Amino acid sequence: MELRNTLFALALAGATLGPISNAHGFCRTMTGREANDPPGTNRCAGWNEREQRACCPYGKPLYWKNACIGYSLQKDASRQVSLADAERVFTRAFETWTKTTCSSDAASRVSIQVSYLGPVACGTVGYDTDGPNQNVIVFRDSSWDHMDASNTLGLTTVRYDPTTGEMFDADMEINAYQRRPLSIADSLPSGAVDLPSIATHEAGHVLGFAHSSAEDATMFASYRAMTMRDLSPDDTSGICGVYKSDQTRVTAAGPLPADSCDPTPRHGYTGACVSESSSGGGGCSVPGDDSPRSPSPIAVGLSALGLVLLRRMRATTSAD
Ligand SMILES: [Zn+2]
Repeated sequence: MELRNTLFALALAGATLGPISNAHGFCRTMTGREANDPPGTNRCAGWNEREQRACCPYGKPLYWKNACIGYSLQKDASRQVSLADAERVFTRAFETWTKTTCSSDAASRVSIQVSYLGPVACGTVGYDTDGPNQNVIVFRDSSWDHMDASNTLGLTTVRYDPTTGEMFDADMEINAYQRRPLSIADSLPSGAVDLPSIATHEAGHVLGFAHSSAEDATMFASYRAMTMRDLSPDDTSGICGVYKSDQTRVTAAGPLPADSCDPTPRHGYTGACVSESSSGGGGCSVPGDDSPRSPSPIAVGLSALGLVLLRRMRATTSAD
């Protein structure tokens, strides 16, 4: 709790001292920590809704170094959505980002691919700093252990190197516990929420994007039925601007050539649960912190970002 207050105070100080501007709509998830900040600092954790309309200006932007990411689905999927349907939804969600072309030249595709590695037994959000991992997508049917179960639709927790912004791991939770049913139909039933829209938004978080100020963007923080299934020009600017078609990704240290495609999760792949687990953060738009709970002496940053049903976001940090 102390940490939460400290981070919130830092965020407020940052908001007061520095102008927050946003020349474009899309935002990258940031480490939130400047060079002289103590470990655990995240100047952007605890930002309120107004502040979240701008990009976090502190620290370094997150990115995947490899040309490929592999992910898994928890094998039970959901009482509402079969594994086969979930596989289709998430395949399309990631392809919506990775099949983007960045000019009239059809060969100018973005330089990141996402591969489905199959179902896994583990449904735990976590990252093993020493052993094999999986980037898992899991439906929460029976409970939602984060704040605001009625309005939070999905939550993606990412781990990264706080000194460079390189991403290590991403796990996604879908709230199937809230009272509104999930739908995958092209004609949305009354009262239901559109799973493909949620999936495409959360896929953007997996790729290292935070919330956009562009209200028509898939990465806008508040859910819109159906129209988040496809990318807006703002989302396209984001994915093309980071994972460039020349096979580099834009990092704080400049353009970095992608490693050749290997979708194996960091330190190897396992379908079993990793030794370290986390309940992740709560609510929406929690732009990252260096987790003080890391079991490893090597600090690993943690960020959790989600999508809410209403334009109502809470100031919180994922570090409590
Ligand atoms: Zn989100």
